[in-house]
Amino acid sequence: KPVIVLFRHDLRLGDNGALHRASQTGKPVIPIYLRDERVSGDNRPMGGARRWWLHHSLIALAASLRELGARLVLKRGRTDNVIDTLINDTGADMVVWNRRYDPPGAEIDEALRVQLSHRAIATQTFEGQILHEPSLLKTGAGGHYRVYRPFWRVLNAMPGLRDPLPAPLELKGWQHELASDTLDDWGLLPHQANWAKGFSEAWSPGEKGARDRLQVFLHDRIGSYAEYRDRPDIEATSRLSPHLAHGEITPFQIWHATRNPMLDGQRAGAEKFRQELGWREFSYHLLYNNPKLPSENYDTAFDAFPWENRPDLLSAWKHGRTGYPIVDAGMRQLWRTGWMHNRVRMIVASFLIKHLLVDWRIGEGWFWETLVDADPANNAASWQWVAGSGADSAPYFRIFNPVLQGEKHDPKGDYVRKFLPELAALPDKYLHRPWSAPHVTLKMAQIDLGKTYPLPIVDLQCARERALEAFNKTR
Ligand code: FAD
Repeated sequence: KPVIVLFRHDLRLGDNGALHRASQTGKPVIPIYLRDERVSGDNRPMGGARRWWLHHSLIALAASLRELGARLVLKRGRTDNVIDTLINDTGADMVVWNRRYDPPGAEIDEALRVQLSHRAIATQTFEGQILHEPSLLKTGAGGHYRVYRPFWRVLNAMPGLRDPLPAPLELKGWQHELASDTLDDWGLLPHQANWAKGFSEAWSPGEKGARDRLQVFLHDRIGSYAEYRDRPDIEATSRLSPHLAHGEITPFQIWHATRNPMLDGQRAGAEKFRQELGWREFSYHLLYNNPKLPSENYDTAFDAFPWENRPDLLSAWKHGRTGYPIVDAGMRQLWRTGWMHNRVRMIVASFLIKHLLVDWRIGEGWFWETLVDADPANNAASWQWVAGSGADSAPYFRIFNPVLQGEKHDPKGDYVRKFLPELAALPDKYLHRPWSAPHVTLKMAQIDLGKTYPLPIVDLQCARERALEAFNKTR
């Protein structure tokens, strides 16, 4: 009798507890990618950018499985129904999967476990998506952590983080005919061909792409990570986030690799990098314990916040036409590549929430649609963090000035020039504030403000005062 291996956000062969277990049973293995997109409560369908990624990652996963001797089955529908039918069709007596920690996913999986136990089908689940079990990691008082520092101290000192599991060397495939959807049936690729083109230039979805990214990071960047991670003009971070979001690599594999003794001279960078992985853990910890994190203010005082949500301002933000170069460069990087540098994410989010008074949930929704690394925990926790409505957040009244942020973190303007070529000829000192350049300078740079590049859509000083006034009303 075969064993079914359920794939969802774990599109890899290495360090895959469920697949590893299945390979050890000696039974025929049926790997299935199950797309359960029921929309209920906080369960949202995948955004467009992630669907593009998924399409390519599934091609890579199917090829890797084929090399080991198994065929990936694609199915769409309710998890309970699909698995029920598959068991009836194949006589499988065991189902294994890697645990999910987003509340809607975890709920679906728990219901499946109960259903299968009624049918006397064996189930086994495995860790892999995050380093800690949120249901087990408690504060001294027995609750969940609300502040990052103490959470990190406990996580970092956790004994016995296991070594990654090897990928199986071969699998016994299921030799009988089994109906499968095709990727063409699913239509995951975006209709706008240009959108996909930018992604293809920037990314290699799949387990090998993830491994290569990690190697480049360990080889070239980890030593200077602490120093340069806030610089969007320098390729200083790992760009592993979309690979992590799709489970093409696990935090165990990354953690283990950064502890390599060869990296001894680069300890500060490695430590800082692990702390950032710790933020991902913290986001999952918060989401697991607060299932409404993507849709409701963690700090309910914000429920009374007088959002203005002006469609014209929101549209300018989405299209990278606010007149503030660092904001616009970030939003265009997002559209073009499906990713944005962390520092710039903070700047554009702060600008939307505070200078434009747009509800953080609207910004979160746009990121959900356009980020290849859109992640229910990291996205929600980060937006709430910037808004000041989250756990352990930046205070609301700390309002980023996009001009000063740009000058500090993109000092020569390389990042802005890359994504806003219409400003490229402007001298460095005006790049983050083009409206202050003398007329003749603008003319020489062939910039006609208001035409070739927008004038600022809000005045920073007035917008700041308005934001603080709105904030005071919530208290
Ligand atoms: P690196 O600097 O190389 O860090 C390594 C890994 O650590 C990342 O891949 C990520 O998994 C984790 N990490 C790093 N920084 C953070 C952070 N601040 N918070 C949580 N985890 C972190 N990250 C997502 O993965 N998905 C999202 O949907 C997402 N939305 C965000 C929205 C906003 C408004 C902000 C401010 C941040 C958001 N982040 C999100 C966090 C962060 O920006 C990205 O994880 C990071 O930019 C990914 O790039 P990297 O892989 O090169 O990171």
